[in-house]
Amino acid sequence: MPRKADRGRAKGRRTQSLTASTAAGVTPSRNILAPGNRRVLAEVAAANALVAFDYDGTLAPVVSDPRAATMRGETADLLERVANAYPCVIISGRAQEDVLRRVEGIGVFEVIGNHGLEPWAWPNTHVDLVRGWRRSLERRLGALPGVVIEDKVFSLAVHYRQSPDRNAAGRAIASAAAELEGVRLIGGKCVVNLAPRDAPHKGTALQAAREQFGCDVAFYVGDDETDEDVFALDDPAVLGVRVGSRRTSRARYYVRDQRSVDLLLAQLFELREQSWRS
Ligand SMILES: [Mg+2]
Repeated sequence: MPRKADRGRAKGRRTQSLTASTAAGVTPSRNILAPGNRRVLAEVAAANALVAFDYDGTLAPVVSDPRAATMRGETADLLERVANAYPCVIISGRAQEDVLRRVEGIGVFEVIGNHGLEPWAWPNTHVDLVRGWRRSLERRLGALPGVVIEDKVFSLAVHYRQSPDRNAAGRAIASAAAELEGVRLIGGKCVVNLAPRDAPHKGTALQAAREQFGCDVAFYVGDDETDEDVFALDDPAVLGVRVGSRRTSRARYYVRDQRSVDLLLAQLFELREQSWRS
């Protein structure tokens, strides 16, 4: 079992569920950074907990060119502290290799790419399927300005942030993608993700990582549609936090914006240290 995962166990705490107990008659704030919710984070810090983060829009601000997405120096420093204090994984829609480069030097346990598909091995039929989609989309969308098809081998991302008419581009992509076989479409911020319909997703990946690292509970932060696969897990041992409040999200908590993730990382680290001292 990993060294860091042992720390929670060493204290004999085997929390199986994370609950947000609230005083009777008080409507709880869903902002995880609200003072009243510090105890929720303290519960995570005291547990044998896996912490997991999406990358774009969560650890790194969304930028117009996805290749340029990087963490602020402060975020990287805080993430490093958190990764030294908890078993920590990144679960991104990017290819695994891409994310590995972006978090190089930070001691995370694992980087999971392609919305939960990497690093696990998949049959070549998946790869062939995705290759066929790419060819089809290139024929249908190749002439559209500002539309970029990113081939990540196990899934595709069709970006249209740079399009002069995003609404029209989004409709054209949705229409072309709807004709593909075996595809699951996941929306995003000026991106349409295409993954094999029967493939695992971020929720599956988080649970697999929790099991792999022997953790009793999991804490996950993400900002987009693909993260709803985690937020929708019907498991009291998983606590999801969305970056940016949205009424329709299944996340139990949120932080106001991407900058607030720094405050969340700082609190996770501080409370973990406190739990070791107590
Ligand atoms: Mg994201």
